[in-house]
Amino acid sequence: MLDDNNKASATTADIQALDAEHHLHPFTNTGALNKKGARVITKGEGVYLWDSEGNKIIDGMAGLWCVNMGYGRKELVEAANTQMNQLAYYNTFFQTTHTPVAELAREIASVTPGDLNHIFFANSGSEAIDTIIRLVRQYWAIKGKPYRNILISRENAYHGSTVGGTSLGGMSGMHKQGAPLVPNIERIRQPYWYGEAGDMSEEEFGIACAKALEEKILEVGPDNVAAFVGEPIQGAGGVIVPPANYWAEIQKICQKYDILLAADEVICGFGRTGSWFGSETLGITPDIISMAKGLSSGYLPIAAVAVGDRISNALIEHDDDFNHGYTYSGHPVSAAVAIANIRLMKEENIVDYVANDIGPYFQQKLRDTLGEHPLVGHIEGVGLVAGIALVKDKATKELFPDDLDIGMICRDHCFNNGLIMRAVGSRMVLSPPLVISRDEVDELIEKARLCFDLTLKSVS
Ligand code: PMP
Repeated sequence: MLDDNNKASATTADIQALDAEHHLHPFTNTGALNKKGARVITKGEGVYLWDSEGNKIIDGMAGLWCVNMGYGRKELVEAANTQMNQLAYYNTFFQTTHTPVAELAREIASVTPGDLNHIFFANSGSEAIDTIIRLVRQYWAIKGKPYRNILISRENAYHGSTVGGTSLGGMSGMHKQGAPLVPNIERIRQPYWYGEAGDMSEEEFGIACAKALEEKILEVGPDNVAAFVGEPIQGAGGVIVPPANYWAEIQKICQKYDILLAADEVICGFGRTGSWFGSETLGITPDIISMAKGLSSGYLPIAAVAVGDRISNALIEHDDDFNHGYTYSGHPVSAAVAIANIRLMKEENIVDYVANDIGPYFQQKLRDTLGEHPLVGHIEGVGLVAGIALVKDKATKELFPDDLDIGMICRDHCFNNGLIMRAVGSRMVLSPPLVISRDEVDELIEKARLCFDLTLKSVS
């Protein structure tokens, strides 16, 4: 509960103690967190959050890359409220449908690129990825080639944390836990030019990384491969923008061996890169995409997989059930919020704003303000997503020792200075709400500069 000054009426310590008593946090060392107490977030408005001590924080991460239209949007609240009153729940398993799910499928199809016009619903990015795994394998089974069941993804990719998502992803820290993984998943190197290219030019490296796909296909046998899956821009891996020629080469290789191309748009979708989907920004023509997060601006859990004609025709013409789905696939309230969110995005021309106004402004300002900072080795990003490599030595790209955990030091300074910026190893990442104004971008980046200065002091 909040009092008039926006402070929790239970004290922060009370809530922290309650949280420590019963709550196991995701991706967290809960024991360590319990000792220091979690920060209690109480309110959001626009690009700002408030905590239970009354501190105002600028959210450079849009929650977890999802609150694209900003906090406190009454239109989305209203859509949920109206739908809750009308029909709070019904499923779409057994020969039934409802207006929100049918309308949302059309709304999504109106913004997806190419022929990605058929939509399967899920509740999270991870579930959407599991859907992709099952769907591409089922596609080939329908085509009489059930042996085409290998999926190829990349090291340091993030595709969620269900068993399927963990297996498809390339996060070694996740692979070590909860094994064994799902079989018949192969991985190739990531296209991280700044960190892994050695002396190669961006162009040479783009070709080399795409060639790695062809080598892998030949190694496992082209007729055993179902699909290649990749994030247009890797997000949770540290915001890694591939070389400009990379995706065109990947696309050619997929075509050459008749392999389905899947783009995981969970972060890049819904305007983040200045197009409705990252595939458009990066020049990819995928057969299938996953989406979540920005679909409802994070207001309610909802995710989807959009498939092109090749897959939808196979499924629709195949005279059998697709035995897959979730109780809350296309949940009417989540769907109503997602419809309102997409309409709001259209009304406010938000994708154009990211592409032609705030995105370029943000990218330029980042480089102007932080490019010369002694800690900053490299800045990459498109639209309103960016990754900043922290280095010990700009000239040699030497990194700080792992056990120093420079990213965490920087993240903690941000945390203590009213800015949410995330650390991925030694990379700092930003993904603010798309509705951020120029003044707010200035504030965010000035705060980042202060925190980089404090970080430098901490390690000098
Ligand atoms: N794919 C990508 C590219 C993601 O970034 C994420 C989440 N960060 C997921 C899948 C998983 O989504 P969720 O956490 O909603 O399951």
